[in-house]
Amino acid sequence: MEIWPWHADGVKTLIIGAGMAGLTLAARLCQQGRDPVIIERSTSIEGGYALGLYPVGSCVLHGLGTYEQLVEQSLAIERYELANSSGRVLQSFDMSVLTAALGPLLMVSRSDLVRLLESSCAGADVRRGVTVSSLNQEAERVEVRFDDGTVEHFDLVVACDGIDSSTRELVFGPASQYHSGWTLWTWWVGPEQFESTVAREWWGAGCIFGAYPAPGQVMCAAGGPTSALAGSDARASLQRHLVNLIDHIPAVGAAIGDLRDAYSWAMRDVRSDRWVDRRVVLCGDAAVGFMPTAGIGASNAMRAAAGLADELSRADAASVPLALELYEKRCRKIIERNQTDSRRLARVMFVRPPLLAWGRDQLAGLYPAKRALREIIDSAHQPF
Ligand SMILES: Cc1cc2nc3c(=O)[nH]c(=O)nc-3n(C[C@H](O)[C@H](O)[C@H](O)COP(=O)(O)OP(=O)(O)OC[C@H]3O[C@@H](n4cnc5c(N)ncnc54)[C@H](O)[C@@H]3O)c2cc1C
Repeated sequence: MEIWPWHADGVKTLIIGAGMAGLTLAARLCQQGRDPVIIERSTSIEGGYALGLYPVGSCVLHGLGTYEQLVEQSLAIERYELANSSGRVLQSFDMSVLTAALGPLLMVSRSDLVRLLESSCAGADVRRGVTVSSLNQEAERVEVRFDDGTVEHFDLVVACDGIDSSTRELVFGPASQYHSGWTLWTWWVGPEQFESTVAREWWGAGCIFGAYPAPGQVMCAAGGPTSALAGSDARASLQRHLVNLIDHIPAVGAAIGDLRDAYSWAMRDVRSDRWVDRRVVLCGDAAVGFMPTAGIGASNAMRAAAGLADELSRADAASVPLALELYEKRCRKIIERNQTDSRRLARVMFVRPPLLAWGRDQLAGLYPAKRALREIIDSAHQPF
């Protein structure tokens, strides 16, 4: 028998998706003594990719008491270097400027971060291998049918189910998308080929390659126009397509040669026109999705989740819709601005004609590194 209401001033919350947004929100709600139910479609947290966390996202772990653990499990990037396809360095950012102003850019494997966030969710009811079949908004609550056939009622449902959110589709309908027409492949290699604290990218005409060190391993990312990377053999198609880069940079050739299990990602993103529908709300990539190349999606997902938890800390079950309205007002503008910037960056990165790529490289070399870091630092000073 279901007991209703859950308890006197509680807010019975369902979080869909145990990624960065879902687990951050769950951890903050657990701190408030409002243990949520969190469901996750996937049964495994292994595999995945490296995440670069900026202080605007990692700072949430200060409040959870796990920041020091994050530092132990991650690697602080000391320099970011951008080169053209013949290896000429166009930009070199000394990240100590960022570290001194706000804190380090930390590279961590996604699965380690998931484990760390989940360790702060002791009170939550975490159910893996479960998803939602249907949602029905009643007057004061939401009826949820799970894919195992069970039905439960909640005061609040938070969709943290990522860029392809099926909850968003179910409740809000199709969202607007940005497609760059490029695909990125990611895979892990050993630490030998690349410097351990330097994130490096090579931009060519119609191709990119990046090496992002994490503790004990390096995540490689290589991409190009989707049409040029067709075929199921990722190694062969990257070797073919990135041949100029491989000729100039032996480490790139070696890393592609070492490719075993690679994942492909379409370089696109999503922006939902609405975040809130009565007692259902979007958070993280489900609301504003980010391309991997932006390097800021996880940080935004975490700070949006912390912002939502903050608004909910002042709400009871009756005032949930107001808390959701305030959360959207608080977060939407700044996250959408970040996404607009990431699309701008994508247009600069994903250039195909050689002449345009040459012009881009000249301009990239002139852009003051200090100014780019200043923009990141300034954005952290805006209220959120
Ligand atoms: C290759 C790659 C590299 C990236 N690098 C960076 C980086 O360096 N820095 C950075 O800040 N960001 C990076 N990003 C972006 C970042 O991963 C996302 O912005 C961030 O993970 C968004 O968090 P989220 O919780 O909203 O979604 P996710 O982390 O995607 O989590 C969504 C969760 O919901 C689950 N789920 C999905 N559908 C359902 C369902 N129907 N029912 C139940 N569960 C469901 C998924 O299994 C997943 O666990 C990268 C992304 C990729 C793909």
